[in-house]
Formats: sequence, structure tokens, C-alpha cells
Amino acid sequence: MHDIIIIGKGPAGISSALYAIRAGMKVLVIGSGVGMLAKADHIDNYYGMEKTLSGTEIQRRGEEQLAALGGELIQGEVTGIGFGDGYLVETAAGEFPCKAVIIAVGKSRKAAKIAGIEEFEGKGVSYCAVCDGFFFKEKVLGVLGDGDYALNEAKHLAGFAKEITIFTNGQAFTATGENSFAVEPGKIEKLTGDGKLEALVMEGGSKKALDGLFVAVGQASAADFAQKLGIEVLGGNIVVDVDGMTNMPGIFAAGDCIGGFPQLSTAVGEGAVAGQRAAAYVKKNR
Ligand SMILES: Cc1cc2nc3c(=O)[nH]c(=O)nc-3n(C[C@H](O)[C@H](O)[C@H](O)COP(=O)(O)OP(=O)(O)OC[C@H]3O[C@@H](n4cnc5c(N)ncnc54)[C@H](O)[C@@H]3O)c2cc1C
Repeated sequence: MHDIIIIGKGPAGISSALYAIRAGMKVLVIGSGVGMLAKADHIDNYYGMEKTLSGTEIQRRGEEQLAALGGELIQGEVTGIGFGDGYLVETAAGEFPCKAVIIAVGKSRKAAKIAGIEEFEGKGVSYCAVCDGFFFKEKVLGVLGDGDYALNEAKHLAGFAKEITIFTNGQAFTATGENSFAVEPGKIEKLTGDGKLEALVMEGGSKKALDGLFVAVGQASAADFAQKLGIEVLGGNIVVDVDGMTNMPGIFAAGDCIGGFPQLSTAVGEGAVAGQRAAAYVKKNR
């Protein structure tokens, strides 16, 4: 069992790992790729950096520093956080138990721009299988998405639903986990219903009758994790205290996902606080 699992390998995630490892913690970092730094061609406002570096080079150096410290890094997507003896971090490759979690997934820009989706929110459209699946017992359900997050949401619904289809809305289905659900790759034109969701209208006019549609586009974001665990969110940002801890004991957050001033320097600083304080939390609760 790891002491601390860090979700995200951007500057906030790797900085928190460096501090947690140096505080004696057994740490695992799970990250699905380079985050915002991939878009930054040059960074020249970071303290002590004598020449301009690309975001990709800064990311490479961070990962190298983590490896030099013996840090464990898995390339992968986290699809959920559950409860166990502590917390369970869910990925397509399996679940990882830990005592504390640091969410450092940056800011998500995913959106499902389909006509009618907002109209039916709370009337058949949901963003959380764990929260709302129970209300759809024996119903015909859809999951909107194309990756492991969508597959994981479908698996959560499998215990309740009569039938589940994953709608990729024109995208290739890229989930790496084993899939036993029907996949509909066509593009969706709109959602229809009379006061509540009743069907998806596909481009070309065919209709798919549905009682519920669970939106799981792209990767699970900070807001998705927050909603499932009951973490307080304000204006799309995870709310943390001075120790970087959320309202859930043992769940910390750092970097762009907590809002404030989204910069490399702040992400690194918030990561340092979360890593050090998460280590203190684990030691105190041993
Ligand atoms: C074009 C551009 C230019 C910029 N220029 C500057 C600059 O000059 N100076 C400056 O200080 N800042 C700059 N920034 C901002 C800076 O890049 C960010 O503030 C910083 O990278 C935030 O760090 P983070 O660790 O919070 O998030 P990110 O760097 O976004 O990292 C998030 C990490 O989480 C991972 N992740 C997300 N979801 C999941 C999931 N479900 N499972 C597993 N992993 C997941 C991602 O793969 C990534 O590893 C720039 C940003 C952009 C877009």
C-alpha cells in the first residue's frame, strides 16, 4: 500500500511527490501525459531559471528529478477515487490503495457541446455514475465518452442498468480496459424529451431511446473527482485550506485545479505544501 498517491504529473504533482518522498513517504505518481506545460513554448518567468526553457523541457527535468529520487511514476489515467482502508485510486490497469491522495490534475477544458444537454441536466443527464446510478435501476442508459473514464462510468452503472451503450459521438473509442458494453460511434445531433430525457437523435435522424445519459467525456477532471467524493468546489476550483487539504480528510489538491493564479511557480509552491502536509497527515494517522 502506498502512503500517498498523486494524480497528475505536472509541476504541482511532481513537486508534491518530491516533498512527500523526502518526508519518508512511499509515493506513487499517476499521470496521463504532459499537462499545460506542453502548450508553453517558452517559460522565462520562473525564479532562478537563467535562460528560457520550453514547457516540455521543464516537464522532462521534473520527471528526471523524480526518478533520481527513486519516485514511482505510472503513465496512466485515473478514472475515479473510491473508499477502502483509506482511499482506492482507480485506473484501467487496476485499483491502488493509499492513505492520502493529492489531486494535481490541472484544469480541464472538456465540454460536451450537444444540443439539449444542459436542458436535461438533472432530468436524465448526469455527470456522476456513483452519485446517480442508483436512481436508474433497470433503465436503459447511455454513457457519453470515448476513453477509460467513460468505460469506468459504464462499469459503475452495470449493477443498476437494464442496458448500457457507450456513445462516442464521432470519436474513436480508445479505452484500454476490457469492454463488454455496446459502443455507438455515430455523431449525436441532439437530446430530446418532454420534460425529461427520452432519446438521443443521431446525425441522419435515427433515434436511440434512453432513460439516462451519463457524461464522461475525456479524462476524469478535478471537478469529477470532487463531485463523486463530496469535495467542496467553488467556481470550478477545488477548495483547500492552508495545508492544501480539501474538506475530505486525507484528500489534498494543488496547482491549476485549485484556481488562484495558474502559473508554474504557484503550482510548484502549492505542490510543495500539499506534499509536505499530506506526509504529516499520514504520519499523524498511522
Ligand atoms: C500556452 C501556455 C503558456 C504558459 N506559459 C506560462 C509561463 O510562461 N509561465 C508560467 O509560470 N506558467 C505558464 N503557463 C501555466 C502553467 O503551464 C500551468 O500553470 C502549470 O503547468 C500548472 O501545473 P499543474 O501541475 O497544476 O497542471 P498541469 O501542468 O496541467 O498538469 C496536470 C497533470 O495532470 C494529468 N492528468 C489530468 N487528468 C488526469 C487523470 N484523470 N488521470 C491521470 N492524470 C491526469 C495530466 O496528464 C498532467 O500530467 C502556461 C500555460 C499555457 C497553456
